[in-house]
Amino acid sequence: MTEVLELSATATERYATVLAGVASRLADRDFIAAEAQLQPIAGERWVGSLRLYASPVAGVPKRLGRSVADRVKAEVFAKDSFRCTYCGGRAVPRCVLVAISDVFPELFSYHPNFARGKIHPAFWALAPEADHVIAHSSGGTNEPSNLTTLHTTCNTRKSSTARSALPPVVIGNHDAAWDGLTAVYPGVVAAGEEHGVRHSSLGYHARWMKYFSDAASRPDVPVGGLP
Ligand SMILES: [Zn+2]
Repeated sequence: MTEVLELSATATERYATVLAGVASRLADRDFIAAEAQLQPIAGERWVGSLRLYASPVAGVPKRLGRSVADRVKAEVFAKDSFRCTYCGGRAVPRCVLVAISDVFPELFSYHPNFARGKIHPAFWALAPEADHVIAHSSGGTNEPSNLTTLHTTCNTRKSSTARSALPPVVIGNHDAAWDGLTAVYPGVVAAGEEHGVRHSSLGYHARWMKYFSDAASRPDVPVGGLP
């Protein structure tokens, strides 16, 4: 186990690249190759000071992102081509990361509350949230047009807490097409049925797969990411 206290400036892109390789091997059911791909980041555990907004911190405005329906989140992530609109980096939806964790529960650990010491730092670095552009308290709606994709870390960075724990902003390569690994997601889920443990309730992955597939078939969403 490797304890990770801070995310480096390149962490997001490094994790995205490694996990893209892992996910595609899993979709091919090549568990040995997938584990070899995971090796550079295997066994890392987040021990830094970031906290999910699910546990409110005194003095920090209550976040309302959690009230956004999952179906809408999928639409927002697709609209933004699965990139964080704060740093430009690649995002991988939490459900996809969970599916990888289902296969490798020790090497790529998951905890639903992102508990310190129990979750791989890639969840912080890659999992996006749908954040309100105009705050709910200022009349902003839960419509996709008022929501934007932010990494969990970048969402935290926007607030005043834990800023010192965050890396500087690095603008990612916007030119490269990116789908948040949603195309290989069903294959990873199927791999998890054969090997590993299930972290989620029955139907969780099936629901998210449907949301992504519905979002991808919307005419206003670019196919395969940015042109
Ligand atoms: Zn970001």
